[in-house]
Amino acid sequence: MQDLETLIYEINDFSKSNFGFKVEKSSLKTYSSYNWELFCKKNGFNLASEGIYIPNILRAYVKENTDYFVLNIFHELFGHGLFCEHSLFGKKLCTLDFKEAEQYLYKKSNSGISEYFIEDYEGIAMLFEEKISIFTNTIELFNKKLKHFPNYNSIFEKFKNFEKEYSLKEIFVKFEFL
Ligand SMILES: [Zn+2]
Repeated sequence: MQDLETLIYEINDFSKSNFGFKVEKSSLKTYSSYNWELFCKKNGFNLASEGIYIPNILRAYVKENTDYFVLNIFHELFGHGLFCEHSLFGKKLCTLDFKEAEQYLYKKSNSGISEYFIEDYEGIAMLFEEKISIFTNTIELFNKKLKHFPNYNSIFEKFKNFEKEYSLKEIFVKFEFL
């Protein structure tokens, strides 16, 4: 695989031409497993996680040297990044500090797809992750990741079904991507 910077650049081109928008403000920080542990402990994040996106600073953090490293970048930087930068709901999240954003995500959703906002937030990130994995020929890895995380898989299926019945465009309209 080409270097990460080139890959990110190409995905952003793909994003702009396919979705109509791209990552403009979000940045990425990757950590070795040792530093990931320190980072998680310091901030009270789940040690078992491999990535996180922090809306109010528009920053994606991803643990290095994992099986799903590139997918985790697609998910955190592009999945959550595109959502937070370009949807009305995501922009609202960015105005909250991390604790408030977490609380907000556990409110009931009125999307008609999910029960809670957190599922909308994750489902949309996974849709972007899936599209990017097709573009980068990592769809098999993506499918493997879904099998590894059944909870995510059930959220993803709800969004996938909605997309099949309506369209990705409809999802963008629903979440007010501008
Ligand atoms: Zn996520």
